[in-house]
Amino acid sequence: MERKTLISAFVEQIIAKTDFSQLDQIYLYNRILNLVDGVDKTGDYTDKSLIELADLLVNLGDTERTAGQKELLKTELLNFLVPAPSKVNQIFWNKYQQQGVNSALKYLYQLNQASNYIKTAEISKNKYFRYQSKYGELEITINLSKPEKDPRDIARLQKLAPTSYPQCQLCFTNEGYQGRIGYPARSNHRIIRFDLLNETWGLQYSPYAYFNEHCIFVDQKHQLMKIDRLTFRRLLTILDIFPAYFVGSNADLPIVGGSILSHEHFQGGRHEFSMDQAKIRQKITFTDFAHVKAGIVDWPMSVIRLSGKNKEELVELATKILNSWKNYSDEKVAVIAASDHQPHHTITPIARKRGAEYELDLVLRDNHCTKEFPAGVFHPHPDVQNIKQENIGLIEVMGLAILPPRLQRELAEVEKYLLHQPNQIAEKHLHWTEKILQQYDGKITAENVTSIVKQALGATFVRVLEDAGVFKNDSVGQKAFNRFVDYVNE
Ligand SMILES: [Zn+2]
Repeated sequence: MERKTLISAFVEQIIAKTDFSQLDQIYLYNRILNLVDGVDKTGDYTDKSLIELADLLVNLGDTERTAGQKELLKTELLNFLVPAPSKVNQIFWNKYQQQGVNSALKYLYQLNQASNYIKTAEISKNKYFRYQSKYGELEITINLSKPEKDPRDIARLQKLAPTSYPQCQLCFTNEGYQGRIGYPARSNHRIIRFDLLNETWGLQYSPYAYFNEHCIFVDQKHQLMKIDRLTFRRLLTILDIFPAYFVGSNADLPIVGGSILSHEHFQGGRHEFSMDQAKIRQKITFTDFAHVKAGIVDWPMSVIRLSGKNKEELVELATKILNSWKNYSDEKVAVIAASDHQPHHTITPIARKRGAEYELDLVLRDNHCTKEFPAGVFHPHPDVQNIKQENIGLIEVMGLAILPPRLQRELAEVEKYLLHQPNQIAEKHLHWTEKILQQYDGKITAENVTSIVKQALGATFVRVLEDAGVFKNDSVGQKAFNRFVDYVNE
């Protein structure tokens, strides 16, 4: 057993893993001693990882630190591992040039994991399973990675003066930002700059990834998300730079868009979604675009898939479809382009490379609301909102459900109810649970109850996606889909 001080053990690993050298040992020790309020502790730290040592360090000294304060400090400590942004960019692009794109991405990804920018331990807490549907195998996750808020942090937050810096969580000004109570710690955050059609964009990973190498492409300028011709050009150009990743954009209207509409950005990553594997249900042709293959995808939402080798042709046709959709109403199937001068129609686009071909999925979206469906006609309907009431964004469109953490607790009560045990089932789950009881009448046991609830969750996610589909998968809906295709060709 080798005894040393906690700070010395941390400094030793920093020196081993960075450009710092032995000569920096005293300097690093003193900088860290200051951060942990002048306290150090002797022990055996031989088997501890750098992140584990950081966890021990944040518990030294001031024992009154809140969860939020510990997170800020931990991030600041782990920032000693990460080179300056200019250096990270230099290493990334050198690797890109000399060893190829995947080697560069691997460098950034591993650096982000080692510095705990990507929250690997927290992400592993998510519940994940697959559900076999008629559209293929869907993925379901219950998102448990974001820590519960410390009540002391909530109390402190109320006393803080409001601030508008950084302007939003996607702005480049987050790079190296200390963070504060109620705002993420970003000391260890680094952004890879790249040229996208003569504008500067950034590449960064998502700290709470929903799938492998979940990344975000961010416009350097803080400006509103907007789906138009430029979006399609940008998506396909990103595929030229990072061909192993898919890239897609959330829609640019509320209800059918993502959580941040104020800053232009895309999401991407190295993951094959269920929608990627979905087949073409019906081939279609577009006038003047003989070289572009097109079809309606066999999917619960309404998707037109375009593919071809010529980027400009795909961009032209996608723009034509988007502009047609923006003006298109079909009241027989409750599709309404605009009301009260508010536009309702937009597209969620997703692009991927298949060999030499580009593939572009255009998911038609409509965000209008009615008295019957105040949250949105093409949004999860009230009878499934006990499971999902949030927006159906890009990732869910592709068949990966991100269900809220509250479900973990609530479904435990649902299971007790199904087993006729004393329970505190929430009112909103009663109808949904009664339907499961009817379906599995008398066959539910302590052994199979969890898997029965998973099946019900999967089936409900299919319903959620079908609710979000503008042209339903029945003969009325598919005829309406074809009327829209005809309209594009007029
Ligand atoms: Zn911003």
